[in-house]
Amino acid sequence: VPELKESNCDVLIIGAGPAGMMMAAWMARMGINARIVDKRSTKIFSGQADGLQCRSLEIFDSFGFADRAWKEANHMIEMCMWNPGEDGVLRRSDRVPDVPEGLSRFTQIVLHQGRIERFFLDHIKKHSKDTLRVERAVLPESLEIDEGKCDDHSADNYPIKVQLRHLTDEEAAPAQANGQTVSDGLFRSNLVDDDTDDLIQKGRENKGGAEIVRARYMVGCDGAHSWTRRQLGFQLEGEPTDFIWGVLDIVPITDFPDIRNRCAVHSASSGSLMVIPREEKLVRLYIQLTEIKPDASGRADRSKITPETIIKAAQKIIAPYSLTYEYCDWFTAYQIGQRVGTNFDHKTRVFLTGDAVHTHSPKAGQGMNVSMQDSFNLGWKLGLVVKGIAQPSILKTYQSERRRIAQDLIDFDHKFSRLFSGRPAKDVMDEEGVSMEAFKQAFVNGNMFASGLSVDYGTSMLVAKPGSSTDQGDGTDVSSTHHQKVVGRQELATNIKLGMRFPSFKVLNQSDARPWHFQEKLRSDGRFRIVVFAGNVVNPQQQSRLKVFCQHLTSSGFLAPHLHKHIALLTCHAAKRTEVELLRDFPDVLHPFDSKLGWDYDSVYVDDVSYHEGYGDAYKNYGVDKESGCVVVTRPDQYVGYVDSLDEEGFVGVEGYFKGVLA
Ligand code: FAD
Repeated sequence: VPELKESNCDVLIIGAGPAGMMMAAWMARMGINARIVDKRSTKIFSGQADGLQCRSLEIFDSFGFADRAWKEANHMIEMCMWNPGEDGVLRRSDRVPDVPEGLSRFTQIVLHQGRIERFFLDHIKKHSKDTLRVERAVLPESLEIDEGKCDDHSADNYPIKVQLRHLTDEEAAPAQANGQTVSDGLFRSNLVDDDTDDLIQKGRENKGGAEIVRARYMVGCDGAHSWTRRQLGFQLEGEPTDFIWGVLDIVPITDFPDIRNRCAVHSASSGSLMVIPREEKLVRLYIQLTEIKPDASGRADRSKITPETIIKAAQKIIAPYSLTYEYCDWFTAYQIGQRVGTNFDHKTRVFLTGDAVHTHSPKAGQGMNVSMQDSFNLGWKLGLVVKGIAQPSILKTYQSERRRIAQDLIDFDHKFSRLFSGRPAKDVMDEEGVSMEAFKQAFVNGNMFASGLSVDYGTSMLVAKPGSSTDQGDGTDVSSTHHQKVVGRQELATNIKLGMRFPSFKVLNQSDARPWHFQEKLRSDGRFRIVVFAGNVVNPQQQSRLKVFCQHLTSSGFLAPHLHKHIALLTCHAAKRTEVELLRDFPDVLHPFDSKLGWDYDSVYVDDVSYHEGYGDAYKNYGVDKESGCVVVTRPDQYVGYVDSLDEEGFVGVEGYFKGVLA
């Protein structure tokens, strides 16, 4: 047997769906030696996930490609609820905003997963200078972990050994449903068996090429049937239900008045339907298939699910309105079930993200978002550990932070999908039916969660909140091993919550008066940030507090070497813009000088009235005192790690925070 080719890489990513793409994006931006493989020969071109939350757009913006999604997508502004009136005839009972006002500078939008994957691919290509490419038709066939070597995180230690199998494009293409001309997503649906083992078998029989990769870390982003999860012996816990739903992407021909609004339609006795208006005149319909039931094995018969059977079910629900189509873009079906993974990592060496650790119904539009956000949480941590910048123990916070979110997601989806799949109550005495008022309340309450903005990470070495960092519910200790615990002073910035994402209000650039959303300045470049709320800098006393804080920063033996490289500085003051000069009133470290590029004009901002876009009133909205200000530390993913005062004591706190995190 010829020797297999062997190579090393720092991070090996399995799967190039949204979770894998997000992981690869971090690797590209942070210059990590990574590989990403996917068993399929092509990316997705139609269908699948389509809802993008406000938070996902904020994240895309931090990478610099939110504008592409924003332009192409359909924007979701209003949600309408339809159900039978007292006469049993379908009527619109309510309209509510799709996203509550003032939550974010973005609203929810819809655009299919294939486009999102395209934006990521372009981004990864640009930032890796085309060195990180998705290797398609390649999948792992064996995994060995040298358990004894897992605790040693030094750069030349590769405890993971994976054998990869290369397939031909033909082998890697998924089978479509018999005789269908429209592309379908049934091959990825939970109604069919996964084909991973067959693919490995085929690859072996046909003697497709194999190779060995030794990796320091591995991330399984390989979806709901995750091969990586199976190798680790981890389970998904939870139950499937008997509710089966079809999904159709069509250009509808209809007299239903709200076809261009998001709608929840509950019929009296034919099931429910959700309308999601999409880009390019497409509309996605999620349709309950009440006539298709799971068999004794718990599975529904896939051959009965065709665009024709799905549209027939939709026509019954939406009657007396008519609904047909000439063009169908994609269809699929799935059985609702909510499950969450028992473990999200093995010895902080092999991680699972996305559908590999949580599955649920797609109607609330969460899956792609939460999956990308898992990797958004993990990617920078891996990047910093691989480069030796941060303590390896930060990797433990991936599970402690994201498992709780997955559990919240499952609980939310459980509640929402049962209310959605239930028959509407005929009256208050009808206990088996779902009260439409309860449905509306669940929608409105769930909106905050569904926007992705309610994420609130618990106490750990990365989030200096009061309370214990050892109490993670799963026994994980995520406190720092090296230093005494510091606790942030939340009262100094009452609306910049420790553990939550840094909120955004408009501020002006001190040098050119251009308005910016302040969050736009927290780019995803792998750096922490010290955000200096400099307060009223024309007051001499406040000037000297600012100077003292900055002197400590630049003379700190621990922090100074990290400044600008791993810790960026961003300033917002609250004096009048016209009474202040960048070079005169701010210490150099806040707008550093470069011998080739001159002064940095992009780091000092002011809370003042703009010429054309009104007043953001940032200090008030952030809950920061306009005279004395404060300092806030944000993590590379924009979540708030620490808050303290702008003085010597505050400096000691900030330094203490970083001593607990950096290597
Ligand atoms: P996936 O997208 O499943 O990606 C996994 C990748 O890994 C795939 O490319 C696969 O080919 C590859 N892979 C799998 N096994 C292996 C292996 N052994 N080796 C190598 N590669 C492998 N979510 C939303 O947010 N909003 C929605 O509106 C929405 N609608 C949906 C509609 C439908 C019909 C479906 C089916 C899902 C929907 N979802 C929605 C869910 C969303 O598609 C998933 O949550 C999301 O794609 C998960 O991303 P992921 O990267 O974790 O997994």
